[in-house]
Amino acid sequence: MQTRPANFVLSIIIPVYNEADNIHTLYNEISNNIKTITNKELIFINDGSSDHTLEQIQALQQVDPSVHFINFSRNFGHQCALKAGLELCSGDVVISIDGDLQHPPSLLPLLLDKWKDGYDVVITIREELPGGNFFKRFTSHNFYRLLAKISDLRLKPGSADFRLLDRKVVDVLKRFEEIDIFYRGFVAWSGFKQYEISYVPEKRKSGATKYTTAKMIRLALNGLLGFSTLPLRLVTLTGLVISLVSFTYGFYAICIKIFSDSAISGWASIMTGIYFLGGVQLLCIGICGEYIGRIFMQVKKRPHYIIAETSLKQDP
Ligand code: UDP
Ligand code: MG
Repeated sequence: MQTRPANFVLSIIIPVYNEADNIHTLYNEISNNIKTITNKELIFINDGSSDHTLEQIQALQQVDPSVHFINFSRNFGHQCALKAGLELCSGDVVISIDGDLQHPPSLLPLLLDKWKDGYDVVITIREELPGGNFFKRFTSHNFYRLLAKISDLRLKPGSADFRLLDRKVVDVLKRFEEIDIFYRGFVAWSGFKQYEISYVPEKRKSGATKYTTAKMIRLALNGLLGFSTLPLRLVTLTGLVISLVSFTYGFYAICIKIFSDSAISGWASIMTGIYFLGGVQLLCIGICGEYIGRIFMQVKKRPHYIIAETSLKQDP
């Protein structure tokens, strides 16, 4: 079994976007659960908040030097905030947790125990309770099913961005240069010794969800299109099937023309054919366009985020 260094450094990375009312409670709960750990850093990534989130973090810094912040120049999104945290933290073990207390800080000791037991990755699975947001539950469940069908990734429904990573996994994740980030997938894809913990999500302490439907769709597309080229193959297959059908239909039309003298071609069937083919073609172009758009964004190699200010040391 792997032994962990006795005086390890723990980094906790917390993406926050307009969470001013949650910062203090979250800090207290996290601190209470990691009291026994001497070397630690709590890194808040302020993702372009327009409220007093940054001021709240800076107030904490006055009383606790282990608190740090990374302040983005604007809102870049949750996954980019996680990336900044992973890139700038220096811990031997890193835990990412949401800033709204939906990920229970009371699980932190358990995550660390599993790491001490020799696991390099401890992921958490959100247990879906009856009630709550039906739309979110339904789309999330079907997303994971679809992802499992069209790619080699096997993500459990309810996989959350609340997880522990050993330094060697963080170093692997730092090498990912994909513009469209989907950490749940990257972590599963990376392998290593993984352990799963289920948890029941709390109600959001304060404020509303920052994951709008548009942001959720974007993340889902990053997962689906980033891990599978099957949709492209389906486009080819659809084209092939439609060509075969039209060829057979053409053959049938010729036969009618030759062998029967009542060759009336119906307006309805022509129109249906045109609309159907038009629709399928647009859909196929759309799917190809999604991939081409991603290639376009990727070749530009723009940074994932811009740091306006940070209390951490940055590599030159
Ligand atoms: N978040 C962020 N940038 C964003 C959206 C969200 O940093 O653009 C943070 C947010 O402050 C929270 C975490 O990501 O700490 C998860 O977001 P949220 O709780 O709104 O998502 P939900 O739990 O509703 O899926
Ligand atoms: Mg939340």
